[in-house]
Amino acid sequence: MQTEDYLLFDDFKSWKKYCEKHNKLLFEPVLDYEIHQKGTKETAIWEGIATAYQVMCEAVDTGLNEEMTSRSGMINNGAKKVYRYPKAVLSAEFQRLIARALAAKEVNSCMGRVVAAPTAGASGILPGTLYTLQELHDIPNQKIYEGMLVGAGIALIIERNASIAGAVGGCQAETGTAAAMASGAIVYCLGGDINQVFGAVAITIQCMLGLVCDPVAGLVEIPCVVRNASAAAIAYSSAQISLASVDSVIPVDECIMAMGEIGQAMEARYKETALGGLAATPTGQAISRRVLIHDIEMLDDEPEQ
Ligand code: SF4
Repeated sequence: MQTEDYLLFDDFKSWKKYCEKHNKLLFEPVLDYEIHQKGTKETAIWEGIATAYQVMCEAVDTGLNEEMTSRSGMINNGAKKVYRYPKAVLSAEFQRLIARALAAKEVNSCMGRVVAAPTAGASGILPGTLYTLQELHDIPNQKIYEGMLVGAGIALIIERNASIAGAVGGCQAETGTAAAMASGAIVYCLGGDINQVFGAVAITIQCMLGLVCDPVAGLVEIPCVVRNASAAAIAYSSAQISLASVDSVIPVDECIMAMGEIGQAMEARYKETALGGLAATPTGQAISRRVLIHDIEMLDDEPEQ
């Protein structure tokens, strides 16, 4: 791969053109890019992806089996309650998807080990979706790894043309990107073609546009944890729509442009500053004061050096 070929990740159009011209699968240029960027061998890249997937699956299992109460108390074993609830609102599979996305994100909120994909705030979305996808369709690990590379390519383009950080582009940038990575990976793993994969990304972004970043007390807990669950659901609905070749109408690159434009226009209070939205509600403010007082008391209790 020549250096100029990295321009293929300038936008989705270029990535598609490159794959069609060189008769490559979507994940292959991402793999080449990773090898080039890290200056390492292909085997090391696959090993790294395998480890990342293992950590994702472990986060799901940890969140569903171990005590998950955050220091603020706002997160309190929600994933387990959802997983074990006797009535499924849609199907048992959907219930498990939601519980798993919650579980992995709760592990992050409780300071456990997760994969930031693309950020810690969105770390429940890929684990919840991929774990459930593999279970439902009996997909081999290697195919899941390829799907993860497709997801990485999607994040790369979004980062270049909009943002993947809540502090820069709002929650649309963070959970929106993770949902786009997940829906693209789902469609890829289920045998969708390039148009269907990119269509899923476009539809996902259309569903996530405008979402602000407003974490209560500045902690990545509320609404972050439940947004991981809703983003996982949107990833699946978008994949289902796009697999049927329903047109996104607005091309994927233009959806990303819209995301960037909305992110730029968003006021600072909606960009992880905890000054607006849910963080600014009376309850959000009361929690913020309580967390602050608790932190000060903890500092006071620390023995002097
Ligand atoms: S609300 Fe902000 S901190 Fe929470 S997941 Fe969204 S972008 Fe991340």
